Amino acid sequence: MSNDTKSIHEFDFSLICEYFSYTQRQGPGSPESTKRALDFIDNLASFTKIADIGCGTGGQTMTLAKHTTAQILAIDLFPVFIEKFNTNAKTLGLGNRVKGVVGDMKELPFREEEFDLIWSEGAIYNIGFRKGISEWRRYLKKGGYLAITEATWFTEERPDEIHQFWTRDYPEIDTIPTKLAQLQSAGYKAVACFVLPDECWTKHFFEPQDDVQLKFLEKYPNNPSASDLIDNMKYERYLYSKYSMYYGYTFFIGKKL
Ligand code: SAH
Repeated sequence: MSNDTKSIHEFDFSLICEYFSYTQRQGPGSPESTKRALDFIDNLASFTKIADIGCGTGGQTMTLAKHTTAQILAIDLFPVFIEKFNTNAKTLGLGNRVKGVVGDMKELPFREEEFDLIWSEGAIYNIGFRKGISEWRRYLKKGGYLAITEATWFTEERPDEIHQFWTRDYPEIDTIPTKLAQLQSAGYKAVACFVLPDECWTKHFFEPQDDVQLKFLEKYPNNPSASDLIDNMKYERYLYSKYSMYYGYTFFIGKKL
């Protein structure tokens, strides 16, 4: 494995979507972390509307639904994920209050001050943290909450290999104090933040991909794009195992002032 693997942005989207439609999560996270973030939010029982942006197939959304009574509107750019999302919601008997729709986080079809809570796990990098928190703020009621996970550095310096990887994929990755300051200047009170534990990456993100990779190789033998994608995901896992002391996802919980 080497760092000449492609950036994830260079792959055919339909292939990436198919790969990740076989997993419960499309990014690092866990039901325990979703619940922990929810526990920082006051008056949750009175909330009537929640948005989940970049929901994927809904791993975290179903946890949100389990611990709240609100209507949840979840949005993702990719129809394959939304189809799976809505099937999952129905199977869990949540079809009446959890709805997935196809849409773009850069042009959200929401009304001003529509939501009590905006959630987004492992997805805001697609618009960029600063732009996302500032643009999405208008869709929150005053006193409403924002809860998002974002890629962060844990140290001021880090080895070149991991630095290069992240700054190529997501140049906005930064330290936790920097992100907290950005949250505050965007008009939120920083209520809490915590680093996602290792198992959010290992048990819930990388390990479930083992089966998917076997399935993929069987389905697409001799397909260079499929094997490149697998190599890429293996490289990400290798980087995490080597450098997880330097980076990870952090949950940020903010309250609109
Ligand atoms: N929240 C899920 C998925 C995270 S992966 C989880 O934690 O498991 C990032 C998600 O963002 C993917 O589902 C991807 O399809 C979605 N996404 C990418 N660009 C987007 C955009 N412009 N608008 C909405 N969703 C987008």
